[in-house]
Amino acid sequence: MKMKSKGQRSLVDETRARQHLLALLNIPGLSGEEMLVAAHIEKVLRAAGCKPGWLRRLPARPPLPAKFGMGNLVVHLPGTFAGPCRMFLAHMDTVPLCRGAQPVIKAGQVVARGHTALGGDNRAGVAALLAVAETILKHNLPHPPLTFLFTVGEEVGLYGAKSVQAAEVGKPAMAFNFDSGKPEEIISGAIGAQRWRAELHGVSSHAGMHPERGASAILIASRALAEVADRGWFGKIRKGQRSGTSNAGVIHGGDATNQVTHHVVVQGESRSHNPAFIKQISAAYRTAFERAAFKVRNCEGEHGRVEFHCDNDYQPFHIKDSAPVVRYTQKIAGLLGIKTNNVSINGGLDANPLNAAGIPTITLGVGAHHPHAYDEYVDLTQFATGCRLTLALATAG
Ligand SMILES: [Zn+2]
Repeated sequence: MKMKSKGQRSLVDETRARQHLLALLNIPGLSGEEMLVAAHIEKVLRAAGCKPGWLRRLPARPPLPAKFGMGNLVVHLPGTFAGPCRMFLAHMDTVPLCRGAQPVIKAGQVVARGHTALGGDNRAGVAALLAVAETILKHNLPHPPLTFLFTVGEEVGLYGAKSVQAAEVGKPAMAFNFDSGKPEEIISGAIGAQRWRAELHGVSSHAGMHPERGASAILIASRALAEVADRGWFGKIRKGQRSGTSNAGVIHGGDATNQVTHHVVVQGESRSHNPAFIKQISAAYRTAFERAAFKVRNCEGEHGRVEFHCDNDYQPFHIKDSAPVVRYTQKIAGLLGIKTNNVSINGGLDANPLNAAGIPTITLGVGAHHPHAYDEYVDLTQFATGCRLTLALATAG
């Protein structure tokens, strides 16, 4: 990648940034257990001159699950010049597949030594923010008010981002989430999702002696899911201009083969970039379960019933190409010789709840690839580019 600007390129020490990355990849930190990661960040930043009052660990309060050890870590650097606050964020947690990960460098990439995922999702983002905050502090670089937000529980439901209150993070005018691969890709849109759960109640009876007295909850589930699929609401969905996806991913129930099953639980999800269509997908499941429950009857005419619960997991968002956060990123990236393109993705990000809370948030890459897989890796060239871009975004006047 060609660099057009002089100045800032040399200020992020690439060797140091790489050391941060390796150190962070070695620290365990599953969702809800991010304390060691936070302690490492605090230690590095204090040594770089961060005042104790600029660091704040928020308590693990709702919507975080009760078992969480801490809430988000907020690092706020008061501006050396006035201006709206800019926020930089990355999530500290990694998925269980990363347990015991040992990073090694091979041919310009960081990979896991053994049979684990790496945790580049999202320690690459955390390392980039740490390297940039440290660089700003060490070199006393001029900057507007800056918030570095290290979130918890992203992987299990975007919990840290959902708990953000704008006032606690300096009411940022724009935010940059680092949780992806290519630095030149501006993720300015992401899908939304609902999670649903259907409790199916049938009528129990001895399956050999009196099967006619039973109404099977397993039969209700089977009929409902077959209907959903037949009507085109299962898996990849396209209805005219509208599109989305759905899945029934968990099913459990039944006690014995000789008993007509009286209780089954089916759990699933509905996704789309169109908020109204997400609801329509979930409604198609609800209707199918209700219809099937009504149809499955015993000899007395008793039928089953369904309790259907549906929750918004996260809202979709789409930031316009003309929005200040997108234009600013394009401009700064352009100065570094990085040609950006805007993309929309089919997964949820910490950016979803932040945009829903009114903080315009884009997501950028720092070289993390193949998340949640054994062949996960961090591309060190892209990581270095991501660090340079982050520093420029944080310090541009
Ligand atoms: Zn991630």
